[in-house]
Amino acid sequence: MRTINEIIVHCTATRAGQRFTVNDVRKWHLERGFNDIGYHFLVLLDGTIQSGRPLEKAGAHCVGHNKNSIGVCYVGGLDSEGKPCDTRTTEQKDALLWLLKDLKKQFPHAVIHSHRDFANKACPSFDATKEYYAI
Ligand SMILES: [Zn+2]
Repeated sequence: MRTINEIIVHCTATRAGQRFTVNDVRKWHLERGFNDIGYHFLVLLDGTIQSGRPLEKAGAHCVGHNKNSIGVCYVGGLDSEGKPCDTRTTEQKDALLWLLKDLKKQFPHAVIHSHRDFANKACPSFDATKEYYAI
């Protein structure tokens, strides 16, 4: 297994209510020239947690931080006009919390961050660093 220092939270930057799955995101990323989906986990609107890239492999989700991190992404992040917005459903909030707690059990020293901590982006449209600081 790789050394994991960071767990980085993302959104798909798709509009509220639009349903996408790991197959969609994998297709987008293959079209961008990645060899697989860039994230390790995707949280769907109904709270389903899908596995993406195997944890053993570095992801492609945060420039300069991929080697020693895990990429977790929820579907959404934009309002109906396409502006950044915390669109997480109750099910997604529950699932994210469960998943991040589970990952922290496996990787107790990993620090949870928002993608926006490392890039000039709104991703994931909420302050994940603050929200998950104490879990
Ligand atoms: Zn991101």
